Amino acid sequence: MQTNFTPEQLTDPHVAESEGILRKCVHCGFCTATCPTYVTLGNELDSPRGRIYLIKDMLENGRPADEEVVTHIDRCLSCLACMTTCPSGVNYMHLVDHARVHIEQTYKRPLKDRLVRNVLAAVLPYPSRFRLALRAARLGRPFAAVMKRVPFLKTFGVMLDLAPKDIAPTSPASVPGVRAAQAEKRGRVAILTGCAQPVLKPGINEATIRLLTRLGVEVAVPQGEGCCGALVHHMGREEQALSAARHNVDVWTKAADEGGLDAIIITASGCGTTIKDYGHMLRLDPAYAEKAARVSALAKDVTEYLATLDLPRQEPKEIIVAYHSACSMQHGQKITMAPKVLLRNAGFTVRDPAEGHLCCGSAGTYNILQPDISATLKARKVKNIEATKADIIATGNIGCITQIATGTAMPILHTVELLDWAYGGEKPAGILPSP
Ligand code: SF4
Ligand code: SF4
Repeated sequence: MQTNFTPEQLTDPHVAESEGILRKCVHCGFCTATCPTYVTLGNELDSPRGRIYLIKDMLENGRPADEEVVTHIDRCLSCLACMTTCPSGVNYMHLVDHARVHIEQTYKRPLKDRLVRNVLAAVLPYPSRFRLALRAARLGRPFAAVMKRVPFLKTFGVMLDLAPKDIAPTSPASVPGVRAAQAEKRGRVAILTGCAQPVLKPGINEATIRLLTRLGVEVAVPQGEGCCGALVHHMGREEQALSAARHNVDVWTKAADEGGLDAIIITASGCGTTIKDYGHMLRLDPAYAEKAARVSALAKDVTEYLATLDLPRQEPKEIIVAYHSACSMQHGQKITMAPKVLLRNAGFTVRDPAEGHLCCGSAGTYNILQPDISATLKARKVKNIEATKADIIATGNIGCITQIATGTAMPILHTVELLDWAYGGEKPAGILPSP
């Protein structure tokens, strides 16, 4: 694609990077076929190609974002299916990240949007605040249906609907410290305990630590880990995202220098995609560029790391698993086979739902900020999953677990919970059929 940035504009490294990305796009439109919002809405401006044109026009003209650009960029899930499809290697992720920062810096959103976004950014990345908010949501839950009928309150009603009925106590897995290997030691890792996940489903990190230590891997929960910054990053809040990234880079650099690390284990693929991008996010910060690149290189999804441990094959089980590959897993991190191979080796029968490339509509805070498109995508995803006639669903991202669970009666687990059970751990609570 031809671009027309001035030499002065190109002195801004963010603009220069986006120009390079734009120039790679050859307008072929292959990406439109796999874009969930184009497939759902049928509007070219809600396709990757359409958004690329909107971003190009806005950046080239040095214009503040307007309502049209904001509408179509806000509808983008950042699922990155377009990057998997694109034959020209267009890095849509970094382009839309830049566009979101530009929107945040130049566009004044309506009061309700600002309020909702401020609440999300102030609550979700902090487990103690999130836990308090979920407790408060219990009181508000009876009013959710009414609130969803009032335009100004609709988003708050959606949030109440998504809040779980039961809130688990703080997990011991979140307490900083070192968990010793329970067999001959063959590795040492740090685990990101995360922000929303340990509040919503603490069993995921507990299963990960049990499984890894049983396999001879020492697991450190470093003091001071925080949210990876993905939630605010996708809202265009660059300073908040970079500050979260710098904080974690410091924590993990210290852990790696003090005890050595083979990997930083991440159990939410949405976080993994962002942490693997820290090296890029902090590339212009001389104090952090090198350290951030080191952290990104160490970041591994738990299934990616388990695949290196050569786990023994287990006896077949009478359990069929529908594997839902989170967008951040398959498109963001390009991890497609490892989770399924691990599950099959562990004795499960694995089925792939149709249209596996399409997002379930969770996408961080998307199911709160764009509830209608999200609900359509959820219904489509659930229909495809239920058609597999599997006994349970497995996936590797807490956002997908929360989203899909609100649309089906099928039990849904994190992949690592099934693997922990298959390799000598506890049977996940009350949701599996008898083997
Ligand atoms: S990230 Fe997903 S929703 Fe956004 S343009 Fe690409 S395919 Fe479409
Ligand atoms: S597939 Fe790639 S090159 Fe083709 S229009 Fe989409 S982004 Fe551009």
